Amino acid sequence: MLPDMTDSQTAATPQASMRAIRVERLGPPDVMQLQDAPVPSPAPGEVRVRVEAVGINFADALAVAGEYLTRTRVPYTPGMEFAGIVDALGEGVSGVQVGTRVAALGGSGAMAEYATVPAAALIPVPQSLSGAQAAAFPVSYFTAYHGLKTLGRGEAGEWVLVQAAAGALGTASIQLAKALGMNVIALASTDEKLDIARTLGADITILQDDPDRVKKVRDAAGGKGVPLILEVVGGKRFQESLDMAASRGRIIVIGNASREQANLRPVELMKRNLTVTGLWLTSLMNDAPATAEAARALAELVGSGQVVPQVGPTYALDQSVQAFEDLLNRRTTGKVIIEPGR
Ligand code: NDP
Repeated sequence: MLPDMTDSQTAATPQASMRAIRVERLGPPDVMQLQDAPVPSPAPGEVRVRVEAVGINFADALAVAGEYLTRTRVPYTPGMEFAGIVDALGEGVSGVQVGTRVAALGGSGAMAEYATVPAAALIPVPQSLSGAQAAAFPVSYFTAYHGLKTLGRGEAGEWVLVQAAAGALGTASIQLAKALGMNVIALASTDEKLDIARTLGADITILQDDPDRVKKVRDAAGGKGVPLILEVVGGKRFQESLDMAASRGRIIVIGNASREQANLRPVELMKRNLTVTGLWLTSLMNDAPATAEAARALAELVGSGQVVPQVGPTYALDQSVQAFEDLLNRRTTGKVIIEPGR
């Protein structure tokens, strides 16, 4: 039974200091340093969480490099997505119980033993999920839902193309698309990654560097091209996505893993009535109805076990540089996890 907590109470006073990753100048992963820092106190409206697991996203590596959509202010502690046990409540927080496992999307600060976040940034997770599974959930599954449904308007029976299919977003997208009754074409860079995509239900798998990839993708979707494409690679591959799309196809631009510039000639969109839509989860989280609808659908699918967050390699806090390098160098599948308590 959970202790009967009121505002501003803590489960047990933790140690005064903790280990945290600190970034003082932007650059490659090895700018991250493990340091001692004071355990933070929750400000009014915040909760403190004992961090069990941090989900590492491509965006974390871009933020440390200073290449993300928003400016990274240093010094800071990276880590936007995490799960752990609520440990203390700031003034005015209600509806959250100390001792409960939560996931959170906090912007930054999670690569530490303790993190504080606004209570509004908490994401309830089924208590059946482990800490690592809960940390693997928010960014990838909400993004996949918005790509497939909110913005992509995907329908059961439609084909969808999932790039980087064995990655965190890719595995989430395949599972969700299948649960929604869609047909999946998966692209990834190795046969091992394509095996993972098939295990999760991908109908057709194609190596990302197959010289005939554009024709094979178009043929897979009945020779007419793909009606919905989740585009995460960018650069010259973005042009290929346009070539792979069906007439009236919807291309949802979610990422730029290649970190290369793409060229878009708007006239090309006219010829086949294509739609290119940008998706950024951070701004969509401010869209309350869209977030509520995604949360409702995802809770049902996770609760019923139709969707299982895919935990990839896990690392200790002092292996953070290695974790980021493995992610950037395409050596990981599923969600990269750091466990600060290890
Ligand atoms: P992943 O786990 O998918 O890892 C990145 C993968 O990208 C790699 O494993 C690799 O898969 C693929 N990739 C393709 N080209 C390159 C390249 N040139 N260099 C490195 N990797 C490449 O990471 P995430 O799930 O965190 O993110 C996937 C993409 O989705 C990223 O672009 C990310 O920024 C984006 N994203 C965007 C969000 C948004 O709100 N817009 C939210 C979440 C993710 P392979 O080897 O199979 O090609």
